[in-house]
Amino acid sequence: MVCDFLALAAPGVRALTPYNPGKPIEELKRERGLSDVVKLASNENPLGPSPCALAAIENSLPHIARYPDGSGYALRASLGSHLGVSPSQITLGNGSNDVLELVARAFVTHIDEVVFSQHAFAVYPLVTQALGARAVVTAAQNWGHDLAAMQQAVTARTRLVFIANPNNPTGTWLSHARLEAFLAAMPKHVIVVVDEAYFEYVEEPGYPDGINLLALFPQLVVTRTFSKIHGLAGLRIGYAVSHPVVAELMNRVRQPFNCNSLALEAAQAACADRVHVEKSKALNKQGLRQLTAAFHSLGLSYIPSVANFVCVDIGGSAMPVFEALLAQGVIVRPVANYGLPHHLRVTIGLAHENTRFVQALRGVLRGHGDA
Ligand code: PMP
Repeated sequence: MVCDFLALAAPGVRALTPYNPGKPIEELKRERGLSDVVKLASNENPLGPSPCALAAIENSLPHIARYPDGSGYALRASLGSHLGVSPSQITLGNGSNDVLELVARAFVTHIDEVVFSQHAFAVYPLVTQALGARAVVTAAQNWGHDLAAMQQAVTARTRLVFIANPNNPTGTWLSHARLEAFLAAMPKHVIVVVDEAYFEYVEEPGYPDGINLLALFPQLVVTRTFSKIHGLAGLRIGYAVSHPVVAELMNRVRQPFNCNSLALEAAQAACADRVHVEKSKALNKQGLRQLTAAFHSLGLSYIPSVANFVCVDIGGSAMPVFEALLAQGVIVRPVANYGLPHHLRVTIGLAHENTRFVQALRGVLRGHGDA
């Protein structure tokens, strides 16, 4: 007789819905017989990685028979000097998703509560549920995190708070003053993760650098990634900056070689290439303007974003529009699973990719209007 594996699964895992990633380009090509596909669905850098990172990968290739440096010594040293922190404060991860999970595994058990906002990044509910902990989800305010509500949601059982700044998929952000006041109000038994995956894109005055707050608030953990502006999503590398004791605890649950050698080398080179970062930032700014101007001309509203994506309100169920765009070889991201069934999240691409998306969207909406 076949085992009832579902009944055997850990309680948190039994009801878990896996993370739903953006549709891969090759999958759409295969499914629809298309040759020319534009993907604006996973907040990747349309310029690709820094040429310095590519050169570093080539140099490392002959050495991949060896295990990587399990401590990530060289990358932690360069990140430390770049960020003005001690390497002992840095935890490297297989993408920042990995470090988000490491924090949760180091601190949260099934009797604890984890606080995060409605519409917040999908990995927060995922890791919370996988650990069998209780998710306390506060209502969003103007699509963003309501820090007053989050503060009120903290109880004696709260062990972890997740804050995305800016948030994915909404692109909303929190000011230094608000974040600092929130951190100051946190009791000592609560670890606060500030997820800054899109940090480098934000230019708003008053946007906080979480790392500067670490000295004041030892229970703060700041996470960042090489997947976004650095264009290394496929290599999977990200990091957390925290109090050294928090880093040491995360290290206890980390797999010995969680970051591969190509990723370690590429990240170090990418970190040093400020030209590529600035170029990527400038392109993103232009592209965001291009898309929001197009939304205005189409009479569509959108959630103002400071990141490399924007959520546009289709004005009804977004799924048929998502499907119609797919049929034209344009992949964007439906966000109904984030409680945003009328929105589509669009990653800022190269100018011609943005144009292709806008033209396809215009055609699809016209088609829908005529129907
Ligand atoms: N945090 C946020 C807010 C994100 O949007 C993402 C990527 N979707 C991540 C973390 C994780 O990215 P990665 O694991 O590639 O570093």
